[in-house]
Parts: sequence; C-alpha cells; structure tokens
Amino acid sequence: MTPPTSQDWHPYSWQQHPAVQQPTYPDATRLADALERLSHLPPLVTSWEVESLRAQFAQAEDGKRFVLQGGDCAESFADCRSDIIANRLKVLLQMSLVLVHGLRGPVTRVGRFAGQYAKPRSADSETRNGQTLPAYRGDIVNAPDFTEAARLPDPERLIEAHARSAMTLNFTRGLIDGGFADLHHPEYWDLDWVGHSLLAADYQKRVDAIGDSLRFMETLAGNALHEFSRVDFFSSHEALLLAYEAAQTRQVPRKSGWYNLSTHFPWIGMRTAALDGAHVEYCRGIRNPVGVKIGPSIDVDWLLGLCRRLNPDNEPGKLVLIHRMGASKIAEHLPRLIDAVQQGGHRVLWLCDPMHGNTQSTSTGVKTRRFDDILAEVHLSFDLHRAQGSHLGGVHLELTGEDVTECLGGARDLTETDLARAYRSQVDPRLNYEQALELALEIVSRQRR
Ligand code: PEP
Ligand code: MN
Repeated sequence: MTPPTSQDWHPYSWQQHPAVQQPTYPDATRLADALERLSHLPPLVTSWEVESLRAQFAQAEDGKRFVLQGGDCAESFADCRSDIIANRLKVLLQMSLVLVHGLRGPVTRVGRFAGQYAKPRSADSETRNGQTLPAYRGDIVNAPDFTEAARLPDPERLIEAHARSAMTLNFTRGLIDGGFADLHHPEYWDLDWVGHSLLAADYQKRVDAIGDSLRFMETLAGNALHEFSRVDFFSSHEALLLAYEAAQTRQVPRKSGWYNLSTHFPWIGMRTAALDGAHVEYCRGIRNPVGVKIGPSIDVDWLLGLCRRLNPDNEPGKLVLIHRMGASKIAEHLPRLIDAVQQGGHRVLWLCDPMHGNTQSTSTGVKTRRFDDILAEVHLSFDLHRAQGSHLGGVHLELTGEDVTECLGGARDLTETDLARAYRSQVDPRLNYEQALELALEIVSRQRR
C-alpha cells in the first residue's frame, strides 16, 4: 500500500481509519459541545518548545544526549496536588543529575505527566459479581469506582483533564524557574535507603562528587549558573483519545504545519500502533516528535511501515521507537529490529521502556514488576545497541516521588508482603522514590563513560 501524502492529512483524517480504544459517549451533543470548548482553550505548550525538543531528540539519536522520560502509568485528577507534583519533579531532577554526571553528557527531561490521563484497556467492559460495566479508561474518560455513574464516559472530563494538565505544567514551570533548590544540594536528598544497598559506598561517593562539582562550578560562575539553575522540562502523554488530541491540534502563525499543543511529545501505545489505524494516521501529520511503543509481537515489515508512515521525509528528531520487550525477550527480538532500521537508513531515537514487558502478577493476583528485571532490560538495551553500532538514546519509566510499594526488590528488597503497605496505583506498578534513584545510580555505575 502506498502511504497517503501529507496533503491528504488533516487533524480529523484519522476518523476515516479504524480507531480502537475509544470510549462510547452516551450523548453525542454533549461531547461535541465539550470538544468545541476545548478547541478554543489556550494551548498547554508552544510550537517553539516542540521544535526545541525535536532538536534535542536529534542529538540523542546521534548518541550526544540522553533522554529521561518518566512519570505515572496514569495520572489521576486527585493526584493533581502540589506535594505529589513536586516530589515527582524532584526525583526526576535528581535522576537526571546522576545521569548527567555519570554519562558525562546532557540529559533531556521529559515528564510522563500533564496529560497522561487516558488508558488503553484489554476489554471494553468489566464484570464483577454478575454486574457488567464499561471499563475504566482513565480520568479523562470516567472514574474507577465500580458504579454505573462512575463508569459512564463524561465529556466534561475532557475539559477537566485540560485544566489539570495546565495546573500541573504551571506549577512545574514555576518550580523550575524558581530554581528548585534540591538540585544544588544532593546532601539533602533522602538517601536513608542507600545504607540498605550493596552499593552503598559507591552511591555515597557519587552523590558527594555531584555535590562537589556543583559547588565548584557555583564558585566559578556565582549566581549566573544558568545551566544548572534553569533546566528544561518537557511533557508527554499517550495520544490515545484522539478527539482530545485533535481539538488541541493547531496551526501557528508564521510556521507551516500542525502542532499538537496539548503536549510536547505524544506517543502511540502498543495496542494502537496498527499501520492503517487512526492513531498512526493522526500522528503522521503533526510537527511534534512522535513515539511509538514496540513489543515482542512487532515484525520487521510493520516496523519499517511505521518508520515510513510516521517520518516519510526521514527528518531528525521526529520518530522515537520505544521498545518494551521484557528482560527475558529483548535479546531475541531487538537485534533484528535495529538491523532493519539501520538497513533502511531510517533516522530514529531509540528509548527503552523496561516496565511494560516485565509486568507480572503475584500469587495473590497483584500486578507488580521486579526491580532486577527492569534494571536487566535497561542494561541489555545499552549492550545490544552498542553491539550493533546503534545508540540507546534514553529510558522511559513509570515512577513516582512517593514512598509507594508497587514494584518488588531494590535496595530495601521489597517483598510480596510489603506490596500491601502502600500500593496506590489504579493501573501499572511504579518505581518509588528510592527505587527510581537507585535505578539511575545503577545505570551509571555500569554504563559510565
Ligand atoms: C503504558 O505506557 O502505560 C502502556 C500501556 O504501554 P504499552 O502501550 O507499551 O503497553
Ligand atoms: Mn503503564
């Protein structure tokens, strides 16, 4: 099939393609009214920021920069709170500082937040005790409680999602502009957990060294240390609910093309990556960099089709392939995909999502992931890319700045019994603050340049 040309594209051309994972709203008039209002609300990001992220991604493609993308599996409206936002930002900033220092290069920070409100589900409905209700599809669609009222898709939630994304971004930008002081004082990091780790001495040395180099540079540069007090932070979410994405897709004065201004970096989930599907159709027409999740079931033809469709002009910084194979499968599947992309001469940024291929259930049916599997998949990704002359350009993680107990292992060696203490995710299990920082430290202790 010849890919359609960009002239055929417009923000609603996806409606001519099969759109999976979309909710069925009970009232089309209320939906249209909400979308109309959404299309006039101010955008959440600007086209300049989107272009700047593209330029950074282009450098990461060439191995000159590392991308740290992370945040919740799904944000909830209730978690749009100052403490949760600040703690998540703090862990991401601290991880990025560890990576800057250990990998000896710039890091691009991308939050999986300010719009990560829609979730793909394995079934459209859910049955409990003989009652069948629509599945929970994320707070942008409905609510998780198992009642008829909660599960009914409500278009007003589209407006609420936009508002909470704006509040999240506003607070994030404010914290960053204000210099979010923790960056300069690694000695204030909550590092009690370090004592539990086999690598305790190594971690402490690294944290001390980061503090020393920051203080040294501050002495040299005084208060004008912009590189460290002013950091960029970008937003990302899964572009799942296409009516929401399209309503925020705009043309910008004096620039050609269309921008999705609800986020800097939308990605296509693994379940919605069909070549002729609506999600690929929507994403092929926007200027934003676009990610696509690829799992063990993807074949070479499909992957090359995605490269051609999503980045027909082979532009740098445009297409991000996020592999999520699982620690036990990556060595079998990734090499042929890298090879096909190289043979085809496609420019892509490779990220590793070590979360979604490593999900498992405990004996009591709780969804979890093992820290060791997550770490193993990251290390294998670095090694497999390097072996083929390719670059792993970054990682895509599910994490929180809170002290939750959702993933097993880590320095404190969380066990199945610990999970009950603070399991808060409605969807996938996240690394907690300590596990996330430990992951960054583990990455640099093996991949240090
Ligand atoms: C996710 O990122 O939460 C997700 C559903 O991932 P994937 O599309 O890779 O399964
Ligand atoms: Mn997830």
